[in-house]
Amino acid sequence: MHNETHETHETTAGAASGTRIDIDHDLCVGAGQCALIAPSVFTQDDDGFSELIPGREDGAGDPMVREAVRACPVSAITVTEAAV
Ligand code: SF4
Repeated sequence: MHNETHETHETTAGAASGTRIDIDHDLCVGAGQCALIAPSVFTQDDDGFSELIPGREDGAGDPMVREAVRACPVSAITVTEAAV
């Protein structure tokens, strides 16, 4: 069985952790809370809308991702945890 769910090393951020963050761009109002709270994962594009930093789509184990999810005024951020 291959079951290496816990953080391996910081450079292995990617699909391996089983966590995935999605931003619903139809909902996002560009409030910027996510980028303020978890700047290692979220950034803002030129129009102020939220984007994931490339390579950090799995949240990179940053506990602030959950805070960002909570802080988003329109609940545009979804965190999916695939329990593999
Ligand atoms: S906190 Fe929510 S609404 Fe604000 S930029 Fe992030 S995803 Fe968009």
